[in-house]
Amino acid sequence: MGREPHLKNMNTPSSTQTSIVYPNAAFELYQGVGMTSQRTRNRLIERLQQLGVRDRAVLQAMQVVPRHLFLDEALSSRAYEDNALPIGFGQTISQPWVVAKMTEWLFAGTDNKPIERVLEIGTGSGYQTAILALLAQHVFTVERIAPLSQRAKAVLNRLCLHNIDFEISDGHWGWPHTKTVVPSLSQNLFFQRSLPETLPVFDAIISAASPSTVPPELFQQLKIGGRLVMPVGEEKQWLYGFIKTESGIVKECLGQVMFVPMKQGVER
Ligand code: SAH
Repeated sequence: MGREPHLKNMNTPSSTQTSIVYPNAAFELYQGVGMTSQRTRNRLIERLQQLGVRDRAVLQAMQVVPRHLFLDEALSSRAYEDNALPIGFGQTISQPWVVAKMTEWLFAGTDNKPIERVLEIGTGSGYQTAILALLAQHVFTVERIAPLSQRAKAVLNRLCLHNIDFEISDGHWGWPHTKTVVPSLSQNLFFQRSLPETLPVFDAIISAASPSTVPPELFQQLKIGGRLVMPVGEEKQWLYGFIKTESGIVKECLGQVMFVPMKQGVER
């Protein structure tokens, strides 16, 4: 494989049903059969469209990513239901519709250009990470539960998605300051340019864990014009989209949601 696949750059077919463009041979290999087949995934995409998801690149990414690979085998027949499902350690893989809605909001206004650097808080199964890796130049993903991060890394490696850096860390701090933001494993021409090592560094930030208030580090690590999408709240949670502008933060409420709480510290 040469350069990383970026669906935002691809010439997308007009129908989600006709020609499927797999990002690389691994995606084709892990397509699945029966309840995990491409046909089953296509039905999920139809449902997402019925629910109002419009972004073609987001739909295409979700159409090709084998969600069943991110679940325990006992749950693979339920992988293409539009539900959150358990992934162990008391955590869940996010509901596909929520993944689509958050990703669509994050990439809105990018004029169909790929986002350079996206930070994800809460790697979990790695499913959302895979979607982001197909749409952005590079993904930086943080998880506080070490075994989840390791498992996600293994699945994403099987899918030959190498434009991802993993950290086991508390996402309240965003990307850990001590870590360089220049990806080590980049095969991408884009990253051969030197990058500023000072913050803020991210074009987009997404969190799948809900804090009581937005950690200030996340706003600090966001570029001007950058977007942050995340749930906020404890018993009652709201999904918010934030845009960082020269004159401050603009916020938009995207509805009520239910995510796991953003916890402190790491678990090894
Ligand atoms: N997008 C993931 C969601 C997993 S659930 C998926 O679809 O699989 C949210 C994840 O956030 C959990 O794995 C949880 O361990 C993690 N998390 C919670 N608090 C965190 C924190 N402070 N820092 C990093 N990750 C956190």
